[in-house]
Amino acid sequence: MVAQTKPRIARSDTAAREAVRAVVLAGVMAASRGWVPATSGNFSARIDERLIAITATGTDKGALRDEDVPIVPIDGERHPRVSAEAPLHYALYRAMPDARMVMHVHSMNATLASLRLAGDGRVAIEGLELLKAFRGIRTHETRIEIPVFANTQDVDALASTMIAETVGRPGVHGFLLEGHGLYAWGRDPAEAWRHLEAFDHLFALRLELRRLSP
Ligand SMILES: [Zn+2]
Repeated sequence: MVAQTKPRIARSDTAAREAVRAVVLAGVMAASRGWVPATSGNFSARIDERLIAITATGTDKGALRDEDVPIVPIDGERHPRVSAEAPLHYALYRAMPDARMVMHVHSMNATLASLRLAGDGRVAIEGLELLKAFRGIRTHETRIEIPVFANTQDVDALASTMIAETVGRPGVHGFLLEGHGLYAWGRDPAEAWRHLEAFDHLFALRLELRRLSP
């Protein structure tokens, strides 16, 4: 029995360390882009079916250290060190067993897109090559619709609405909060970052196109 227990603990420790490192790296990279001003944004990575590593509230994401990334359960239990927005992360991991990383930023492009590009509660993007950055999309001749939800401090209610509008919808790998920012996720840290970066760039393109030809 001992021989079986030891490797399981070792794997779990490795998974926890890797998740914490993925969160730290994502935070530092997002900060370098100016996407998480004034300690905003949060990042999480799955450890197993029950636990995630997630940024502590109020931390400068450009100066994240391993100890700024507590390990918490996704069962909805409140944790004193994590952001008020953590329930959105928990809900996404519970609803999507294959999600390994969730990223949330307050980037200028995402926030402007939520305020100026939304129609019918969605931002539609079509005909652009970078759409192929999203998992499952093979051609620019496609259209995605990113849900935009009203910002609220009632995060539990938002989590229920958000899950109903995003999970299981083809081509939906993120959502916007109005006047607030962007959430994106992926099956591993690289995919989540690629989705985040693609969203930001596509929003920038749409905003610039609108400016050039209103
Ligand atoms: Zn936020």
